[in-house]
Amino acid sequence: MITEFKNEVLVDFGNTENKKKMEAAIAKLESESSREYPIIIGGEKITAPQKIRSINPSNKKEVVGVAQKGTVELANKAVDAALKAFETWKHTPAPDRADYIFKIAKLMRDRKYELSATMVLEIGKSWVEADADVAEAIDFCEFYAREAIRYSGEQPIVQWPGEKNELVYLPLGVGAVLPPWNFPLAILTGMTTAAMVTGNTVVLKPASDTPIIAAKFMEIVMDAGVPAGIINFVTGSGSDVGETLVKHPKIRFITFTGSKEVGLHIAEEAGKAHQGQIWIKRIIVEMGGKDAIIVDEEADIDSAVEGVAISAFGFQGQKCSACSRAIVSEKIYDSFLEKLTARVKKITVGPTTNPSNYMGPVSSQSAFDKIMGYIETGKKEGRLVFGGEATAGDGLFIQPTIFADVSPTARIAQEEIFGPVLAVIKAKDFNDALRIANGTQYGLTGGVYTKNPQKIEKARREFFVGNLYFNRKCTGALVGVQPFGGFNMSGTDSKAGGRDYLLLFLQGKSICQKLT
Ligand code: NDP
Repeated sequence: MITEFKNEVLVDFGNTENKKKMEAAIAKLESESSREYPIIIGGEKITAPQKIRSINPSNKKEVVGVAQKGTVELANKAVDAALKAFETWKHTPAPDRADYIFKIAKLMRDRKYELSATMVLEIGKSWVEADADVAEAIDFCEFYAREAIRYSGEQPIVQWPGEKNELVYLPLGVGAVLPPWNFPLAILTGMTTAAMVTGNTVVLKPASDTPIIAAKFMEIVMDAGVPAGIINFVTGSGSDVGETLVKHPKIRFITFTGSKEVGLHIAEEAGKAHQGQIWIKRIIVEMGGKDAIIVDEEADIDSAVEGVAISAFGFQGQKCSACSRAIVSEKIYDSFLEKLTARVKKITVGPTTNPSNYMGPVSSQSAFDKIMGYIETGKKEGRLVFGGEATAGDGLFIQPTIFADVSPTARIAQEEIFGPVLAVIKAKDFNDALRIANGTQYGLTGGVYTKNPQKIEKARREFFVGNLYFNRKCTGALVGVQPFGGFNMSGTDSKAGGRDYLLLFLQGKSICQKLT
């Protein structure tokens, strides 16, 4: 008996027992730093001569675990294994396929603290952010399992006299799954389970900064008894393994979440027909954002300050949904800025093994260098009112940084920085604010703080984003509640966690039989 979908309840770390469990999980993982995690192809565990050492960004001297550096040959072998498995998996009834991901959800619940601890160490998530990532992964499994069953049932169709007409959904084939490092469990789980529960088989290549949490997902897949070859797991670089998959003639679809640059490159490559290819590759490409929160003069300013601070600096601003522009009415600009600065001063930055640190490190040395470069640009383009510095030492810590008086066309107001840097922009009035908010290439999330119903109505019509929020933060979309995906250069608006999502992994077949 399948119950109605409900979002996973978050862990209360204020509870002493829960806190102890988390501390124990972190300590255990710290003691396993030399552990190696294999590539898995067709159920076979494979080690490669070259390794990826996953580094703790809170302390660059600390290794979290060792993954394999996959090669072009292994990527090709994984596609062969997935092709073979597809021949039987495509005929497996949807409820049976769904059972596997219900099992994956259960096993994730059982290993919740271990999974959260892995993201604390491997990518610098705070305990709360890591737990939310695990909860979202569980939600994706629970939601897509139910959806797969729904799509396998009878579809509403108009009947014609003398005929029996039906519409059935078939899987596509072998897919390449290319997730980012910033939601290294949730997005990876969502894209992978959506693909396989609909009857496809996949090659999963996780982001190079987060192979260990991905390997733990694979352990769970194996423990859940998912048959060999359905999910093939190849750690390795985007340029070798990823690129090979994208160009492979037997890859039928690509599901990618990541940067605009790589996303556009994939879209271009996927459009080419290679020798032996008999289809147009389907692509699901979700990319970056330059998300804005509008703060109107008719808003609850304290609540807007809180919403902007959390949306801009939660997980160090490394969410595609993060607020990187606060667009503030000139009537309240100075007081908003003063209050925001006072609020952001209270943000604690440091290793996230300590739960009292709200912000942890940024993801990698290259991300650190890029963000610090943008901070230098920001010093020329705006007025630095808070932060701007990095902390010396072995961790990649950058202070929450606020630039005021930024022009809407400045680079720091147009380009995705993907770090803890907020541009505050002054607007003449609400129309001006909306014009500025819509004035980038992106269109992922947006927020508006106002009590005025006419302004809310106007923003509902005119604020061109895939996920719009009123009088709350613009991050933290929930599976089933706020289907997620953006417009314009933010991607293909796939609406992950929504009722349309699984259709992207299916093709409809119309069947008509004449009745005698
Ligand atoms: P990247 O684009 O760098 O990488 C994403 C994935 O693609 C990784 O697995 C990467 O592998 C792989 N990849 C890189 N190059 C290639 C290639 N040539 N061919 C095939 N695969 C390749 O993104 P990040 O991991 O840095 O993620 C951050 C970005 O993701 C931000 O822009 C953020 O806004 C966006 N994002 C968007 C979301 C949305 O829903 N719209 C949600 C979350 C993040 P490797 O790591 O080995 O390079």
